[in-house]
Parts: sequence; structure tokens; C-alpha cells
Amino acid sequence: MPNSYDALEGGSYPDMLSSSASSPAPDPAPEPDPASAPAPASAPAPVVPQPSKMAKPFGYGYPTLQPGYQNATAPLISGVQPSNPVYSGFQQYPQQYPGVNQLSSSIGGLSLQSSPQPESLRPVNLTQERNILPMTPVWAPVPNLNADLKKLNCSPDSFRCTLTNIPQTQALLNKAKLPLGLLLHPFRDLTQLPVITSNTIVRCRSCRTYINPFVSFIDQRRWKCNLCYRVNDVPEEFMYNPLTRSYGEPHKRPEVQNSTVEFIASSDYMLRPPQPAVYLFVLDVSHNAVEAGYLTILCQSLLENLDKLPGDSRTRIGFMTFDSTIHFYNLQEGLSQPQMLIVSDIDDVFLPTPDSLLVNLYESKELIKDLLNALPNMFTNTRETHSALGPALQAAFKLMSPTGGRVSVFQTQLPSLGAGLLQSREDPNQRSSTKVVQHLGPATDFYKKLALDCSGQQTAVDLFLLSSQYSDLASLACMSKYSAGCIYYYPSFHYTHNPSQAEKLQKDLKRYLTRKIGFEAVMRIRCTKGLSMHTFHGNFFVRSTDLLSLANINPDAGFAVQLSIEESLTDTSLVCFQTALLYTSSKGERRIRVHTLCLPVVSSLADVYAGVDVQAAICLLANMAVDRSVSSSLSDARDALVNAVVDSLSAYGSTVSNLQHSALMAPSSLKLFPLYVLALLKQKAFRTGTSTRLDDRVYAMCQIKSQPLVHLMKMIHPNLYRIDRLTDEGAVHVNDRIVPQPPLQKLSAEKLTREGAFLMDCGSVFYIWVGKGCDNNFIEDVLGYTNFASIPQKMTHLPELDTLSSERARSFITWLRDSRPLSPILHIVKDESPAKAEFFQHLIEDRTEAAFSYYEFLLHVQQQICK
Ligand SMILES: [Zn+2]
Repeated sequence: MPNSYDALEGGSYPDMLSSSASSPAPDPAPEPDPASAPAPASAPAPVVPQPSKMAKPFGYGYPTLQPGYQNATAPLISGVQPSNPVYSGFQQYPQQYPGVNQLSSSIGGLSLQSSPQPESLRPVNLTQERNILPMTPVWAPVPNLNADLKKLNCSPDSFRCTLTNIPQTQALLNKAKLPLGLLLHPFRDLTQLPVITSNTIVRCRSCRTYINPFVSFIDQRRWKCNLCYRVNDVPEEFMYNPLTRSYGEPHKRPEVQNSTVEFIASSDYMLRPPQPAVYLFVLDVSHNAVEAGYLTILCQSLLENLDKLPGDSRTRIGFMTFDSTIHFYNLQEGLSQPQMLIVSDIDDVFLPTPDSLLVNLYESKELIKDLLNALPNMFTNTRETHSALGPALQAAFKLMSPTGGRVSVFQTQLPSLGAGLLQSREDPNQRSSTKVVQHLGPATDFYKKLALDCSGQQTAVDLFLLSSQYSDLASLACMSKYSAGCIYYYPSFHYTHNPSQAEKLQKDLKRYLTRKIGFEAVMRIRCTKGLSMHTFHGNFFVRSTDLLSLANINPDAGFAVQLSIEESLTDTSLVCFQTALLYTSSKGERRIRVHTLCLPVVSSLADVYAGVDVQAAICLLANMAVDRSVSSSLSDARDALVNAVVDSLSAYGSTVSNLQHSALMAPSSLKLFPLYVLALLKQKAFRTGTSTRLDDRVYAMCQIKSQPLVHLMKMIHPNLYRIDRLTDEGAVHVNDRIVPQPPLQKLSAEKLTREGAFLMDCGSVFYIWVGKGCDNNFIEDVLGYTNFASIPQKMTHLPELDTLSSERARSFITWLRDSRPLSPILHIVKDESPAKAEFFQHLIEDRTEAAFSYYEFLLHVQQQICK
């Protein structure tokens, strides 16, 4: 058996030898045997990317990396030269799987000079274009590949690049002043996924790339790797196609026909037998927690979803509660009722009965149900105000270490006792400061260290913070960030005073408890020789240079990675990126999900601009700005965002001849760039001068770092629709339901007519703003009130009314809701009610006391360019 995850997943370019499994594994091996409990507390030190002094890639000094950051060993190109002897029976191959050389001719020459200008390069005069936002959603640009490759390429929903035309050299990338990186949503829910069971998983012998649609077959028996160009043999087994039951057509195997596939892995891909699904709940039961009342909702959700927890007959579950002491629950089968065991020594926590605290879900189901029914009332009279979260987490770590799994922590206040205790760092008077925003980073490294220990034992920690006051999320979040957990935040949570938060928690829990989960996972991204990765974004721990350790993986997690071009890509016209996610399914299967993305290489600046994926670029920039805010300062991060616009538009301007000097021009592909950057500057994470609670700001930053693009975009730039006159024109049909598709409106008060009602989709919050003069038919038929005056100030639901307009409105909102993991709260806001400020702050094209309007921002950018 291999002894490290690096060896398992194959490392990069490990060998001149023949087998990857025998390649040396430099990093400490994770504990391979669950039985030998004393765990080596040897979580390897995180690899911190070092900024270098080399060329600025773009913008205002975002740090870039040394070329040497990637694995030191140079990729090997095998002795076999990339000549293309065509095997007699395979004349069709060059057309179907053209070698890289043959492709150059078909995709070269898309530059301005030699072909009609593509729409994405149409120059747009930004200051004159009043309605820059299109009325329909912005889709990912389709990479400029030939039709065959286009058909085979990975879906942008899983895998996107900020530049769909990859610059040939770092110098060209530097000229464009745009960020280069990938946005990933690797484990998203898929309706269709080819699953491959095969004794041999075919991979490049040199760089360990999985065979994929973009390799070329030199003949029937040999294929050339599209990442390192090594020529590999086709194994005998691969000659047989189980789908078509035919022999001798390796290029028709599902691995070569699909850019997203999943392999069932053999024991070669295991360090130990696949772990069972293990779930531990760690619950705050201090006075504050009991008062907030979340226990009732959690226990009810668990009771309802107990049978839907992903797992198999081995699934295990356990519960701990804590205030100033820690409480364990013996749920061993055979007991007449759950047994509570209290440990009051929080300085040196021990496990009272280690074997009966995590129990088999099926064997102990009745006891578990008894506990869940009892828990909400067990602490009702508590006067205990302290919170020993740190010690409770230490106990959870001990309990989980033998198996690994998922710890779900529910916390309602600042931890006040024992290890990891925190003090309030927020000065409420500074919430609307325009100057320095402090304390965006952790106050202690306790939570990060604990997370790294957990990660080393394949345990992820998810945090549910339900707080009515400052709880130092910046410190607490570290327990999830570095253990590949997730973070949920419910400010002002109270189960009766804040019913919409309570309902949101209940809905979020349903998704959380029942969604797919992968255990003991690692993820590696490979790219064509010449490109290199640096700086990863998301919740994980970097185990070795480019291997992300993910104790858990869930379908709602997004990642980003920055790229640089280390060697010119002059010899190739295509580059590829491949993500491999190796994980244990909840059913105990070892699986590898592989995504492969193919993009063309271009040599002119115009072509680079033509291929900008502006949404991917803005999401990558947002991730970089979070890092910058924490490592440097918020104002630095804001400056960098502005400079990203100034530099890229200035660089573009210099490529366009006979430009009016007074105009601010952008290629059509970048026309939304300034708008999105302005939106980021007004986002909770980065705004200044508007009252923002520190925990709210930090949570927004956590979301930016861990959400997939599709959800992050709504958070950055909400979608606004007029909904008082919905029609079926252009409607889509979803499961027998007709869903109206109203046009998008720009985020400006000028679009709000008093006679209308507007829905704003901000990702995790929906607002319906109702104008004072809104048509009574809408108020009656959709809201269920006779007139504007009778609409209550607080309204969070649309009633189910038997009218066509009610049906349309609800159908549209349900459709929007269904597409996301977190259940959004709906606020119905009357014009002139105090709550409308919340809604109006999202109208980012408008001026506020603290920030530019869109037009002012353009003028500012223009001024900076002319400087
Ligand atoms: Zn290779």
C-alpha cells in the first residue's frame, strides 16, 4: 500500500521510473490504521506561498510567485518524439483527435487583423453606454475551439478560467493586466455522471494525468499526454469498450468521450480501508444558546432527516454538549436510556467512555431519538453563561481521530473558558469607519492549529454561528477554513423573535444533513507543461505544494487557483487543466472525480481580451482581495480592485488606435468589469463608510472564499427583476411548472417606478420592494392585502393565492430558490418603510454618502488612466 496521499493521487512528474506507486513520498504519511489510536500529531506545516519580486502580473501589486514554486522536478518528455505516424487502420484519428500541431492552423489567426472582429472585441464607450447591464443573464464565454473539442469540453459550471484564450507568454499576460486563474466547483450535484469501473485507470506515466478527451492517439496502441506530451502505451484492457462491447476503439471509451467522469478506485488508491460516515454534533448549551432556542430546530431537523444522512450500515453518530463543562452521551446499544457523562476538567479533557460515544446509527437509533427528543428541554433552567468551546473541540478531535468524519459545531457566543478563549475585539463606533478596519484576521492560532490536527486525522469541522452579538468569527472561522469545513452564520438568531432566521436554519439544515458528502479526500489540479499554479483559494489545507487536503468535500464548495505562465507556450495551440478529486463516498467506495478543461493559446493581446470571462475574473479578484484585506489592509485591497480596472482598461486603450482621447473604452468582453468591481467595493466584505458589523464583514469574506462562482456572482451583483407584471412570454417549463423569465434591470433607483414591485435576488437574501403606487391588483392578487397601506411592515412570505399572478410570482421565486444550497430569506419591503435602506444599499449603480455612483466611478477610472 502507498503510504501517503501524495503517492496515492500520484504527485506530479514523479518518475523516471516506471511506476508511480513506488515513487518516494516525502511528506509524513497520515495514520493508515484506525486501530492504532495514538495519532502522530504531525500535521505537516502548511506551505505558504512566498511573494516574489518578479514581474507584476497585472494590477496594483498583487503578489505573484516564484517560478520555482511548482514542483521542482522538470517534467520529462519521453524519448519518443511527437511525430505522428498514422496507424493504417486509424486514418480518421487526425481529424477526430488532431495532434496539437495540426490544430494550430485551425484555431490560429483569430486575431483582429486576419478575421472579422468578434463581438467580444467590439469597443464599448463606457461613459456613453447608459445601460451596460444586459437584460438576460451573462453566460460563460465559450472557448474558441473547433466544434469537436467544443462538444467535449468541461462544463463551465464545474470548471472555468478567467481567460478562455490563454496568453502564450507571461509577458503577454502582464501586458493584458488581467488575472489568470481557475474557478472550480468540483463536487457539484450532477444529474449525469459517467461512472467507470475498470481494473486499470489509465494515466500518464510521467505526470499522472488521467486519460481524457484531449489526449491524442498516435496509433491504436499509443496515446500522447496532453499535459506533458509523453507518449504512453494503451493497456490491453483499455482496448475493450464495455459500453459498446467492441474491441480496438480506445478513443471511444467513456474516459475519452467525457471531460467529467468518475472512477471507482481500487485499493491502490487507499491508505486504509475506506472509512465509514461518522457524524459528531458539538452543541453549545449555555444560557445564551438555550435562550436563542436553536436546539429545538436542530433536534427536530435531525429527527426528520436521520434516515437520510448519507452513509451505509457502518454509519456512526455522536453528540456532545458544552457550557463551562463538557457533556458526553453514552448511546451504546442495550442501554435503557442515553447516559450523560459530565467532564468538568476542561484543562485536560479526557473521553469518559471512548467506545460508546460514537455509536452505530442503526443499532442505537432508538437511543439517539430519545436523546434528540430530550435535548431541547434538558438545559432550560441553566444559569451557566460560560462557553468552553476550545476544550469541547479538543475532545471532539480526540473522539474523531480514530476514524475521521464530520464535526458540526453550533456556537452562540464568544468562547469564554479554557483553551481558545476569546475577547471582544469589535468597537461598534468603528463600524462605519472609512479608514482602518481592524481584526479581520484571527486573534489566536488555536483554531487553526486545531483544524490542522483535525485535517491530519481526516476530520472536518463545520461551524454554525448563531449569535446575537460579536463572536469573533475571524478567529472561529479558522476551525473550518483549514479543516475543509464550511461556515454558516445566522446573526441575530432567535427562534421566536426572528422567525425568518429560524426558518432559514431549518431549511439550511435539511440541505446540510442530506446533501452528498465525500470523506478523506484530496484534490490535485494539473495543467499543461509551461503553466503553473500558485495561491489556492477555498477551505482546505495544502498538504504538499499542490495537493489540497479535504477531510470532507461537499457539493456546495467552490475553489479558485491563480496561475502563471512559466515557460512560453509557443509550441502548442491548446492547453488543458485537469482536476482530480479522490474521496471516499458515504457508501464506503473510493472514487475519483476528474474534470478536464481545454483552452486555446493565443499570441496577440486582442485575442487575450476577446476571451475574457469577466465573471470568473471578478470572482478570482474577490478571492485575492480577501487575502489582501487580511494580510495587508482593507484599503490596500480596495485600491488593488480599482487598479485592476484602471490597469486593464488602460492597457486595452493603448492597443486600440485612433481612440478618442476623452472616451473610456473597453472591449465588449470587459464592459461589465468596472460595474462588477464597483459592486465589490460596495459589498459587505470590502465596503467602508457604511455601518458594517465585523462578524458580518468577515462572514462575507468567508463566503467569497468558499462559494462557487454561480452563487458568488449573485452576492456580488444581485439580480433585479420587475415582478408586478409577469407574463409567460419567454417562460421556461420546469417539472410541469411555467416559470416566467422577466428581464434583468440595472441596479439603480431610476429603474424603480413607484407603480411597480421589484424582486432583488442577492443570493442568500431576496427582497421584494413594493412601490407606493403599486397596482392594487398586484397587492391583492400576490401579496393578499387590499391596498398598499394594509401591507404589514414585516412580511417574509408570499401567500399561496389562487390567482394567475400569484402563481407566476411564486413559481419564479421558487425556481430561483431551488437553484441554491442555502435557503434565502425573503423580505417584502414597502417603499418608505425603514427596512428599505437594506434594499437600497444593493442599488450599486447609485451614489451613496460613502461611495461613487457607477458613472462617477467611470470618471474616476478615466482620470486615473489619464494620469
Ligand atoms: Zn503526462
